[in-house]
Amino acid sequence: MASLCVRHLPSVSRMLRKCVKHVVFGQRRTMLTGSCIDMSHGLNEEQVQIQQMALDFAKNEMAPNMQKWDEEEIFPVETMRKAASLGFGAVYCDEAFGGTGLSRLDASVIFEALATGCCSTTAYISIHNMCAWMVDEFGSDELRSKWIPELATMDKFASYCLTEPGAGSDAASLITSARKDGSDYVINGAKAFISGSGASDLYVLMCRTGQPGPKGVSCVLVEKDTPGLSFGKKEKKVGWNSHPARIVSFDDCRVPQSNLVGVEGQGFSIAMRGLNGGRINVASSSLGAAHASIEQARDHMKVRKQFNQPLENFQYLQFRLAEMATQLVASRLMVRNAAQALDRGDPNSVALCSMAKLFATEECFKICNDALQIFGGYGYLKDYPVQQYMRDTRVHCILEGSNEIMRMIVSRDLLTER
Ligand SMILES: Cc1cc2nc3c(=O)[nH]c(=O)nc-3n(C[C@H](O)[C@H](O)[C@H](O)COP(=O)(O)OP(=O)(O)OC[C@H]3O[C@@H](n4cnc5c(N)ncnc54)[C@H](O)[C@@H]3O)c2cc1C
Repeated sequence: MASLCVRHLPSVSRMLRKCVKHVVFGQRRTMLTGSCIDMSHGLNEEQVQIQQMALDFAKNEMAPNMQKWDEEEIFPVETMRKAASLGFGAVYCDEAFGGTGLSRLDASVIFEALATGCCSTTAYISIHNMCAWMVDEFGSDELRSKWIPELATMDKFASYCLTEPGAGSDAASLITSARKDGSDYVINGAKAFISGSGASDLYVLMCRTGQPGPKGVSCVLVEKDTPGLSFGKKEKKVGWNSHPARIVSFDDCRVPQSNLVGVEGQGFSIAMRGLNGGRINVASSSLGAAHASIEQARDHMKVRKQFNQPLENFQYLQFRLAEMATQLVASRLMVRNAAQALDRGDPNSVALCSMAKLFATEECFKICNDALQIFGGYGYLKDYPVQQYMRDTRVHCILEGSNEIMRMIVSRDLLTER
């Protein structure tokens, strides 16, 4: 922890200076600030300031709109650009080309805080951040200088294209192909469920350039408006409604070979490296939704009366609230532990990220669902946000590697002879 803050101190200070005009420091954070679920526990002073900035943004810019974005399926471009102006567009990209240069732990703190205001929008911002990092970490300087500045400001949006109609959990069986022709790749195939598709400007595509299996996969960038790139209908989803998901099709779609990220055959590894962070990010978004749900359930217990007394007097509900709080704090510790493992390049970070994603996304979904239960019938009405947190966190158990796949990764790690 100490080495992290020393390493990032200059960039954090710069970011805070840059953003100070947007932030009212010292503003009351949340209703449960100072309680046992206070999300600033264990953070250093600068992380608390960054968290405060993200919480303020969530409260002022996101929470008032989250219902509208959900119901009207609005992709909140201007709000995300405002978030990017605070340094949230390329949080853990290097500063060389415009990234914010923060750690994975810092990123987790930011995404958790933002998700209190809108889990769905935060989840998209986190996917965008994952894509930006993949370009920044593995791309040529030419690609980095072309894309990172505009991804960091979110003038340009990015999508991650791995899943195919026939290749979900078994992603290494993907068949979208990129064939060399002169100085170009000619791409054919289709990707399914792509978040941001149609709205995004950059598609970070995993495609087959060689043999079957993971070693034949490469990562190639495809720009919106490239001839041969097209999008299917907007999917109707249970949650995650503030950003579109569509099938992305490639029909003799031609891109220069200089759009290759890393080297040929490295694409699957790049995709998985991206997902390690992605799993922390999506789990962090779950934490924020669960935190907000606990606050709202707690407030409801104080005002709602049945049997001539407030719900907070019933021991069953008190204990339920205590269990929700315990699950939240345990999840947060696991997520932050995994983020720190990733930061220090721990050899167990893949399994730790998978464990954290598995645990936090399942527990946080349960917390949101329990909060809905505490609201009774009102929880089932769209007038109250708990149902939206519940709907938005449900999908975190399915994507960025389903939680069954997380169990496979963890058990494989345990069963490996060392
Ligand atoms: C809203 C949404 C947004 C998404 N966004 C993106 C995106 O931006 N980019 C992207 O590339 N993908 C995206 N996805 C796709 C997502 O990553 C996949 O849905 C996920 O990986 C699961 O694949 P599948 O849906 O094909 O399920 P399948 O692989 O068909 O699995 C079906 C079920 O079987 C289980 N299962 C599969 N194999 C095993 C096994 N060996 N042992 C035990 N259980 C198993 C799975 O866990 C799951 O429960 C998104 C999905 C959704 C729903």
